[in-house]
Parts: sequence; structure tokens; C-alpha cells
Amino acid sequence: MVSDNSCGDLLPACNGEGVTITFLEQVLDILLEYILKTFDRSTKVIDFHYPDELLEGFNWMLDEQPNTLEDLLVTCRTTLKYAVKTGHPRYFNQLSTGLDMVGLAADWLTSTANTNMFTYEIAPVFVLLEYITLKKMREMIGWPGGCGDGIFSPGGAISNMYALLIARYKLFPEVKEKGMAAIPKLIAFTSEHSHFSIKKAAAALGIGTDGVVLIKCDVRGKIIPADLERRILEAKQKGFVPFFVNATAGTTVYGAFDPLVAIADICNKYKVWMHVDAAWGGGLLMSRKHRWKLNGAERGNSVTWNPHKMMGVPLQCSALLVREEGLLQNCNQMNACYLFQPDKQYDLSYDTGDKALQCGRHVDIFKLWLMWRAKGTMGFEAQIDKCLDLSDYLYNKIRNREGFEMVLDGKPQHTNVCFWYLPHSIRHLPDNEERRSLLLKVAPQIKTRMMSFGTTMVSYQPQGDKVNFFRMVISNPAATQEDIDFLIEEIERLGQDL
Ligand SMILES: *Cc1c(COP(=O)(O)O)cnc(C)c1O
Repeated sequence: MVSDNSCGDLLPACNGEGVTITFLEQVLDILLEYILKTFDRSTKVIDFHYPDELLEGFNWMLDEQPNTLEDLLVTCRTTLKYAVKTGHPRYFNQLSTGLDMVGLAADWLTSTANTNMFTYEIAPVFVLLEYITLKKMREMIGWPGGCGDGIFSPGGAISNMYALLIARYKLFPEVKEKGMAAIPKLIAFTSEHSHFSIKKAAAALGIGTDGVVLIKCDVRGKIIPADLERRILEAKQKGFVPFFVNATAGTTVYGAFDPLVAIADICNKYKVWMHVDAAWGGGLLMSRKHRWKLNGAERGNSVTWNPHKMMGVPLQCSALLVREEGLLQNCNQMNACYLFQPDKQYDLSYDTGDKALQCGRHVDIFKLWLMWRAKGTMGFEAQIDKCLDLSDYLYNKIRNREGFEMVLDGKPQHTNVCFWYLPHSIRHLPDNEERRSLLLKVAPQIKTRMMSFGTTMVSYQPQGDKVNFFRMVISNPAATQEDIDFLIEEIERLGQDL
């Protein structure tokens, strides 16, 4: 029993073994119960409460006095009771979904090892696994022999920022010492459908959001290459330096793949760094059936790929892959001699820490590596193909269904399926401003009801001149056709009287 004990009785306390084992076993029981519930369709995805209800309903305060271990177990239970079951077969809200058992085990191991990626000295195996996995990922992109460089970072937004950073350094290495005042005005190009992290990175790096030119897309959300070329010439005419083109492989809302080969030709012609943001679409490289959608990615100078999205690796796990070796190191290294002593006994190229912007770096590699070992590339391929098949199923089911209207014509290229639900009251109205002003309220109202019933979760947003629509995405390996059927019927049930 741990009930009367406090954290002071746990290891490293003298004779703390028994209390520690009992406590951790009880925590594990709580986790196992949550895991089993996660996959049980009769449980809710979310037990939603408003912030003041959660704040007032429980004592979350940090006290002067220690609490008992029993109290900690109670709060662990409470925390999970109100957590969102992101592995639930009916959770479709984000691009990161699912709960992989091997990934979870690897995450537990990682937390237990509790180390830091910056040096081989303190993370020998993890550093080697990162080296091996990055090489494998570069092979899958199509770089000969998996050559190049890379780093795992705290997410796709940061990976994209690294790409801008090293592209700038490649062109103007003096920026590292002298700053932006010493170099000409730089312009980056990205599509109007690309992820906001490109602009955010430009703001953070002193390029400024005005230094990011948004390129027009076609109706499917893909960059129009002619517009890209026109805007590059325009920037040059103004005396600016075009230095970076971001092509998205799998846009966040539409799931569109930019025409990578045409973009690569333009980048080559004007000697501009080509980055491929495959944060969402990168997983398709694992699939022989779908990897053609990333043809041309191998011509990129850098690629962002988030295994924590389509591949279902537990958050967080994102990599930046770079074709040229050494840039990351030269751009970012500060040679802190308290950490990266030049006279250590081993090959210092395994001290990857100075490639990073961070000092300490979390171990994100083990989850991906152990899952890859467990499934093989074939297993990832099957998992990803299944998600794409399911999105086909959804698309075919709703494209001619009464009350549903597709945002895009044609089969989706990724698992994104974007659609409006039209309640009876507006179903037969002419397509005009009045109908749009009613339609824009529908998705948020259905979502509110969906959250309070807690039965499923799906996201919505406007895009350009399109008012709020649902964006279904499927990256959850637990989802089946039955769950897709459920989602459609649930939207109809919650929305028909609006
Ligand atoms: C999700 C996403 C990102 C950001 O990734 P995080 O891991 O959330 O930081 C960047 N680009 C695209 C296309 C994305 O879909």
C-alpha cells in the first residue's frame, strides 16, 4: 500500500524499493486502464468541460506541504479522465492521431533513460540510432546512398525554420557573425496554402513576414509554377535576393502536393534553395503505391518530415533532412568547450549537439526506430495505405450523398477530405451571400455539439473565400470503415435541425 506514504518514501530514500515498485505499478495500472479504454468504441473520445469548470471542480493548487502518494494517484486518474483520447478510433481532429503500443513502450523507455541528445558521451545508443534512421530516411527520399545530413527537432515548424536558417547561411555565411544588416534583402517563396510556420520562421530569423511572398495556387491548392517564376523575377527586379522556395508535399488543410519537379526546375534555373515541407506528406514515401506524389522531393535541398503525423509515432518526432553535409554544423556551431571538448577519446562527429539551435535536445528517435523495427517498412506501408484507402471510402461515400458538398472536385491525394454539411434549412437555398453566411455557422455548431457528446472529433476551418468546412484527416491506424460511417451519421444527427 502506498496510501500513507509521501514522495519522500520513494527512491532514492533508504529502503525505498518496495514503495517505489508499488507506486509505479499503480501508476501503470492507471495507464493500462486508459489505454484499454482508448480503443473501446463505447467510451467517449473526450469528456469535455469548460476551463472554469475544470479549474473550480478540482484542487490543482501547488502547496507548501507535500501530498500523499495516494493523492498523486488520484490526480493522475483525474488528469486522464479529462484528457482527449487521441488514440481513439474516432479521433480525427489533428494530423497526429493514434496510439502505437511499441511507440508508447519506446517512449516509456526514453523517459526512463532520461538523457540528452547533445553528446555521444551521454546518449551513445540514441545518437547512433538517430544517425542510422536519418540515413534511412534520406535513402527513402532518394538521395544516393542516403548521403547528406539531418536532425530531429521539436516539430515541423522548427524543422522548417532550420531549413530557412541554413539556406540563408549557404548563400551568405557572413550572416552568422554580422547579422542581417550585412546582407541584401532576402525573399522566400511559399504557397498561399502552405503552413504558417514558414512566415513564423521568417519573422523569427529577421527576414520578416514581408520577406515571404505567397504564391498562387490552383483550385486543388497546388502552387502554380508560372506564378512562382513570375514572383522570383519580380523580386530580382526590385534588387532583392530570392533565396528560398518552400514546396509543400501534403498541405495541412487540402492535402495538396505541390508540383515538385516543376518547382525544382525553377529553383535550379534561378539558383534558389528548394525546401520540401513534407511534414504531413512525408509518410507516403513509405508506400510504393503513393510515393509518386513526392516525385521531385529528391531534388530538394532539404526536406521536413514528421513521423509523428502520418506514421503515427508518438509526439513529438520530426526530422529535417539536408542534402549537403556540414551546413547544419557550420551554421549553428558555437563550440562550447564545456560540452564539446575537442580532446574527447571518440569520433567527435557523433556529438551532434552543435548542429542544433537548442542546447539540450529531447530523445525523439527511439520511438520511431523501435516502431520501424517492429513493423518493418512493409508495416508502415500497410498502415499508411490503409489510411488512404479509408479516405477514399469516405470520399466515395459522401460525394453524392444528400446534404454533403465537397470543397474540392476529384479524388483526394492525401487523406484530407474537405466537405460542408448542409442542414435541411439551407440545403435548397441558392448559392449566394445569405447561404454562405448561414453555412459558415454550421460546422462550429456541429463541432460544439460533437464535443459535448464526446463521441468523435473532427476539425473545421475556413480557407480563402471558402467558409467553414470540415477537414477530415485519417492518420489513425485504429480507424475502420465503421468509424467513418459513424462520423458521417454523427454529423447528420448533430446537424440536421440547424
Ligand atoms: C503540421 C505541419 C507543420 C508543423 O509541424 P509541427 O510538428 O506541428 O510543428 C508544418 N508543415 C505542414 C505542411 C504541416 O502539416
